[in-house]
Amino acid sequence: MLIGGSEPVPSRKFGARAAVLHDLAVNGFPVPETVAISFSTADKLSMGDLNICEVVAKHFREFARIALYPSPEFRTLSSVKGSINVGLCESVIASLANKFGNDVANSIYADFVSAFCFEAVGIQRKTIAQVEDEAGNPEQRLSALINLYYTETGDKFPQLISSQLYGLFGGLAKKWRRSIRAARPDSASSLAVPRLGMIVQEMKSGHWFNGSGFGFLTPIDRETGSFKQSGHVTVYNGGRENFGGGDNPMQDYFSSSTDEANKLLLELQRHFRDPHQIEFSFDGKKIWILDSVPAERSVPAAIRIAVSLVKQGKICKETALSRVNPNSLGRVLHPQVARKSRNRVIARGIPASPGAATGVIAFTSRAAERLVGTGKNCILVRAETGPDDFKGMHVAQGVLTGRGGLTSHAAVVARGLGVPCVVGAAELQIVSSENELGETCRVLNTRTGMPLHEGDAITVDGTTGTVLFGIAELVEPSLNKYFESFLAWADEVRDIGVRANADTIDEVKAAKKFKADGIGLCRTEHMYFEESQLTVMRRMLFAESQEERKTVLSQLIQMQKSDFAKIFREMPGQTVCIRLFDPPLHEFLPRGSREMERLAEELGRDIKCVKKRAEELKEFNPMLGMRGVRVGIVMPEIYEMQARAIFEATVDAHHQGMETVPEIMIPLVSANREVELVQCHVDRVAQEVRDRKGVSFQFRLGVMVETPRAALRTGDFATKTDFLSFGTNDLTQMTYGLSRDDSQRFMEEYIRQGVYPRDPFSTLDKEGVGELLQIAAARARTAKEELTLSICGEHGGDPESIKYCRKIGFDYVSCSPYRVPIARLAAAQCVVAQNSESHARR
Ligand code: PEP
Ligand code: MG
Repeated sequence: MLIGGSEPVPSRKFGARAAVLHDLAVNGFPVPETVAISFSTADKLSMGDLNICEVVAKHFREFARIALYPSPEFRTLSSVKGSINVGLCESVIASLANKFGNDVANSIYADFVSAFCFEAVGIQRKTIAQVEDEAGNPEQRLSALINLYYTETGDKFPQLISSQLYGLFGGLAKKWRRSIRAARPDSASSLAVPRLGMIVQEMKSGHWFNGSGFGFLTPIDRETGSFKQSGHVTVYNGGRENFGGGDNPMQDYFSSSTDEANKLLLELQRHFRDPHQIEFSFDGKKIWILDSVPAERSVPAAIRIAVSLVKQGKICKETALSRVNPNSLGRVLHPQVARKSRNRVIARGIPASPGAATGVIAFTSRAAERLVGTGKNCILVRAETGPDDFKGMHVAQGVLTGRGGLTSHAAVVARGLGVPCVVGAAELQIVSSENELGETCRVLNTRTGMPLHEGDAITVDGTTGTVLFGIAELVEPSLNKYFESFLAWADEVRDIGVRANADTIDEVKAAKKFKADGIGLCRTEHMYFEESQLTVMRRMLFAESQEERKTVLSQLIQMQKSDFAKIFREMPGQTVCIRLFDPPLHEFLPRGSREMERLAEELGRDIKCVKKRAEELKEFNPMLGMRGVRVGIVMPEIYEMQARAIFEATVDAHHQGMETVPEIMIPLVSANREVELVQCHVDRVAQEVRDRKGVSFQFRLGVMVETPRAALRTGDFATKTDFLSFGTNDLTQMTYGLSRDDSQRFMEEYIRQGVYPRDPFSTLDKEGVGELLQIAAARARTAKEELTLSICGEHGGDPESIKYCRKIGFDYVSCSPYRVPIARLAAAQCVVAQNSESHARR
């Protein structure tokens, strides 16, 4: 199909490059004669059906030179080169020889024959190079290559455009498909054959003649988005190439063509309402556009451009919102490794908390504190983390673990703190062999054999999941006025809420800074990761009698009340959802003899007693053991204490002029009776506090749906509760029967073999877990229409999962504070996409 005609050339049939060139040609931009080959024709070509070659060749004049380019459905491969100079033959070369002499003409022809031997005939590069190396001059090189062609095929080198196309088409189609697949971000998992169209385009410029050539030009500074042209040109001079590059190279080489190109850039920006970069060829002042794509830009630049275009009245806010990928916002919120950084990658893991951090290795929390105390930045490196590491994670610039997945302790806590984190770096063997100070560890990369020691400098890049050797250069984040305006527009557009998962006052402050609509999950057991408080928590778990536990609880209630009061004060007028204790015991039990000894000292008990009790508490399967509501059923005094602390903090807030309606959430429910029992205790405590304090406050009670049984029985809970929040970390774990902490061992292989399309802990599995959510939501809403539904698992910050939750009628999502901006934009984009779909249908 000839582009620029009356027939449409949609990208879904011909690929993005063909579609854009057609659009430009139709709108009067200078585009060379171009034939677009559809996906279905390209498929036939790669299967050897080459009848199309004659038809295509007829579109071009005799002795024209043409170029072939891929036109994939989506732009992923600007780096994949086309095939140029198709059509070169002996008569063209003879006329070139008259103009530039034999050597130049023979070199040009030999270059083409060499490329043809590789691309069309499939002769190995090594063989071609051998033949070329043996030749003494351009004429010998050409004749050696023509001979090679003859030896391999038994034919004379083809002289017609159609026969050259015949040779090239099939091989190129296969090669480009491979490159497109490799360039796709999901290349490992996707087994689907990429859809590919092709472009056959006349090479308009005189190429080789003085004052002709080709170039690349972009109108903006990639990093800032400000207007600043840059690019490079190749200018021909006496048949040979001269190159120019850098920021302002054009003027030196060919000012008249680049002036024209600059004018074109402005017109293109007007046309697309977005800055475009172009590849072009020129002949004197005359310019042709070979390709035009949105100018490459960093994330801050994308936001700045989108906001500026709205302010200039060029695009509407909805269009602006659709132009930034929500997942890319992490790059604005955290420091990133500078593009120019050359530090060596020494390990790879899972990108668990975005941003990059540099520092020296600390193997323990204490070492981290010590190093930070001496003014050093440090990276906490652990096999895995637990509550004991909280202090270290808090002071460290970054965290690296050898084990764990996206919902492991290290990942969840680091995201909450906004600390860059890489988990599950499986090739790192992190071994602790305690000395008398209990602080000797080392890391060995089992693949490369490279050891790492305390004090070695490394960089963790939690955006890409890489660990770099040494201190890499970082680029600081910029939360500027463009970012603020942009997200304020997202809030105007979105129709579901975005709350934050925040457990400590610092996290609540971060949630406020990123303008969360309240707190959707406060994991109360995480409030006691601080060393002094952890002991009280352990004292409670280690209590051997109810009496002993009650004594500890009387201490804990004061801590809880004061923490809740601080959170209420920080979030006036906004809802705070507090989850009752859900302490997976393995996260709280002391590990190793050093920790046991320390705990025995702190509890004032004999080490033997502590060891015995730890042994009693140890579970084979702690994530399915004495967790969540089970603690509240077996030891009701614990949840009662928590309810009392929440209500007393509510009363205190009331006395300070802040009316708060706290939400209380019951975790890991699987049976209706669990809810009834807890509800009964909570109601009683509420009434006691009301009576004692003389204040009539309200609260809302909800169930956290995180077991498959709970998801199926939401109809039972709905009638007695105000909200349900889906804990999709545990729900994914239990639906798949997949450990949150250990699945990394095989996850990569599963994805590589296409068993799972991606890690289900990162993006909601719509088919399985999603169906459970859908059933659960429908059953709940049938029982009680006005019930509030939400998600608070890590998926609450994932754009695709957010889209799904909105579709099935959830009221809000809740995610770690640093993902709140991502969720705000993703939620807005759901509305924008829906509006444009219904607009298209009208
Ligand atoms: C969940 O299971 O999805 C959840 C939010 O709870 P946690 O991660 O604390 O188990
Ligand atoms: Mg859970």
